[in-house]
Amino acid sequence: MKSKETPNDYGLSIWGGNNFTIEGGKVCVNSGARPAILDIVNEIRTDGYRGPLLLRFPHLVKKQINKLYRAFSASKKEYKYGGRFQAVFPLKVNQFPSFLKILIEEGKEYGYGLEAGSKAELIIAMAYNREDAPITVNGFKDEEMISLGFIAKEMGHDITLTIEGLGELDAILDMQKKTGDPMPDIGIRIRLHTAGIGIWGKSGGINAKFGLTSAELMRAVQLLKKFGQIDKLTMIHFHIGSQMEDIAPLKRALREAGNIYAELRKMGAVNLRAINLGGGLAVEYSQDAQSKSASYSLQEVANDVVFLLKSICENKGVEEPDIFTESGRLVAASHAVLVAPVLELFTQEYTEKALNLKEKGNPPLVSELYDLYRTINEKNAAEYLHDSLDHMESLLTLFDLGYIDLQDRSNTEVLTHLIIRKALDSAAHLSERDRLQQRIQEKYLVNFSLFQSMPDYWGLGQEFPIMPLDRLDKKPGRSASLWDITCDSDGEITFKTKRPLFLHDVDLNERNYFLAFFLVGAYQEALGMRHNLFSHPTEAVVEIDDDGYYIRDLKPSASLLDILDDIDYDITDVQKQLKKRIERSELIPEEKRQDVLAELYLYLSENGYLKTTRLV
Ligand SMILES: *Cc1c(COP(=O)(O)O)cnc(C)c1O
Repeated sequence: MKSKETPNDYGLSIWGGNNFTIEGGKVCVNSGARPAILDIVNEIRTDGYRGPLLLRFPHLVKKQINKLYRAFSASKKEYKYGGRFQAVFPLKVNQFPSFLKILIEEGKEYGYGLEAGSKAELIIAMAYNREDAPITVNGFKDEEMISLGFIAKEMGHDITLTIEGLGELDAILDMQKKTGDPMPDIGIRIRLHTAGIGIWGKSGGINAKFGLTSAELMRAVQLLKKFGQIDKLTMIHFHIGSQMEDIAPLKRALREAGNIYAELRKMGAVNLRAINLGGGLAVEYSQDAQSKSASYSLQEVANDVVFLLKSICENKGVEEPDIFTESGRLVAASHAVLVAPVLELFTQEYTEKALNLKEKGNPPLVSELYDLYRTINEKNAAEYLHDSLDHMESLLTLFDLGYIDLQDRSNTEVLTHLIIRKALDSAAHLSERDRLQQRIQEKYLVNFSLFQSMPDYWGLGQEFPIMPLDRLDKKPGRSASLWDITCDSDGEITFKTKRPLFLHDVDLNERNYFLAFFLVGAYQEALGMRHNLFSHPTEAVVEIDDDGYYIRDLKPSASLLDILDDIDYDITDVQKQLKKRIERSELIPEEKRQDVLAELYLYLSENGYLKTTRLV
């Protein structure tokens, strides 16, 4: 077992993309002065912040943007491709203001645009998108949303409304006719024959939720011509799903889209000049080489896209289109790291100290267990282990039948646990290793909410890389499952024998132990739920240069009052009720009421995560 021989690197070389390194046993950001994440976390905690922390690294957004543009730029050069490459960021992947500010700043040199899928997202784009950068609008639209599109156009935005159905086109053309206002550009989402793949695959295929069929496409061209607006049709769009494992469906979709593009041009769409590939490029989340997520590189995608479009256009004798992408996950996932403190190790009490053998009168099987524990070694490990598991079964039955007492049962549990651990430590090749690891797994209680911070784990079983921030020079010996602090039994990251997580045995009275969850920058914040009313964690932006790191835009997690306000409680009334009840209470002496109230109000102004760490 790998975990036996080497200090664990938690698959960093697989999912890490060189963004982090391990130095002196700590995870460090692999940039500039290479600060340890633990130092950043400790600095923020010095100011009194507790609970989970979401750290954003702007240089990692920049890195992804550069990668995307460089890949397409290289392919365009190689194939002498005439069209431009242009990326826009789909807001649904992360609309949080601190992230958006980073994206817009880091995307400046490329004129990186935004994609909006709802009115609220469109407003964000209209307010913050750089004026030299495009906005694309997908999703179903009513008149009001279309009207927003016209206003954006009048504000000077380069905006393309992608229609999802003919009704939307009718509404747009009607509005233009009525108002005489300048038309936004029109994009058309095409319904592909090609089905998407993966858990998100419903975005593609003939029964997809979105897009126009061939017949509708022809009708759209007719309509646009009839209204004298065919020159406004500039883009066709498709999106085949997220986290594509394989590039084949994208290539099939491109062949379809490329030919549709060429046909529409021939039908008189004179200004049709862009194909928008949507998103879908995968992120490597896997911590183990056997279960890697994606089988392609970004350069391969760019080469395929450019080459395919080039050859279709040559064949059909049309100009090469601009290539738009709406990659979300690929751009945003790596920038955010969630750090959460471990609050408790639940089975830590199974130590020799917990053993409480009777002076005399231990049941014979308990005494035997104790002998097995003392004498188990590498040679006899398998045999002794099996004997002890047998004894344990018998002893538990004896307890159920009333023959042994609770103290005996406790000794049984502790001894069995100790024997399993000793067997695992001494014999590397036990056949039932996995099952045993599962059996003695430690439950780590972690100060975060899975529903708020990693909803895709709960909803889709999406795993995120997990590792401790320090002690990485020591072999982690405990098979771990993680519990969040919600009262929901689903709030658990279970131990998986196929992809085991091992953590360290730490005495939380002596040291803090922090876990980091990586690649949480895409979708998780946007989808995060307020289960049990846990709110978005405290967040901070961390800039890194050769001298060190700088923390900016620190935003504390919402206070209890803000959380209640957010779900429409009248917070003045909440405070009034609390005050009334304290003033009426017969259990609180009159002279103390003011203090109790002050203490209560203090709590109301703080966030809902737990503060208990035994260390200050
Ligand atoms: C969700 C979405 C995207 C982003 O997809 P990723 O897999 O995150 O790259 C892009 N375009 C459209 C239309 C979408 O709905």
